Amino acid sequence: MRGWVHTYFSTIVFLSFLPGVLNLDDIVSLAPPLILSFALFYYATMLPDVDVGLRRNPISLLTWLMVYQPVRVFSRIVRSTASRHRGFMHSIWGLAATMVVWFLIFAALGYILKLLGLQWVVDLATEPILRRLPINTTWMGEPLKLGFFSALSIGSGYVLHLLGDSYTVAGISIFGRRVRGRLKNGLNDHVPPILYTLATVTTYTILLAYSLPLRIAPAVLSGFLGIMSLVIWRL
Ligand SMILES: [Zn+2]
Repeated sequence: MRGWVHTYFSTIVFLSFLPGVLNLDDIVSLAPPLILSFALFYYATMLPDVDVGLRRNPISLLTWLMVYQPVRVFSRIVRSTASRHRGFMHSIWGLAATMVVWFLIFAALGYILKLLGLQWVVDLATEPILRRLPINTTWMGEPLKLGFFSALSIGSGYVLHLLGDSYTVAGISIFGRRVRGRLKNGLNDHVPPILYTLATVTTYTILLAYSLPLRIAPAVLSGFLGIMSLVIWRL
């Protein structure tokens, strides 16, 4: 997938879920975590392509240094092809390694903020969304909260990049199996984001027109994304 298509696809998926999962009446308290989450998500959406040298922002640069460079050095030693484009960085292992690195970086930042007596900054920037997740995070201290929240945001952007690339004929490798679709880069790779945008607009229009609860939307849109993926993968 081309860069701008990745960015557009990830952004529309992120935005399409918001009205369904969050009560936007609380927009004032939700704004700080939403801004942090979206910023990390937005930059992470291009992270797998650090294997072609894309490192235009601090998140890409640090991922390139701390995840991709060690893979490159190691793959030279063992003569593996993991560092090639759509190799390690475009796999579940690349996703896991990137999430662990960013978890540690943000947990360390959370720890520093705590030492400085600024744990309220972490609470302000994570709590309003963490509290709405279907998992109990109340036992976590501030460093863990910031690490977890950040790694989750970065991981979500990363996953959507992998999904987008899996739609193209080159595909990506998932546990050694090539997952590929029927789309060609630069020719019709923009079709899934356009279809998804239409599905989002249609879903919310119907829900609003019939005064149905907006929380139905994430289930409908996840279903649409799943079916669209299966069709593109020719399954
Ligand atoms: Zn890619």
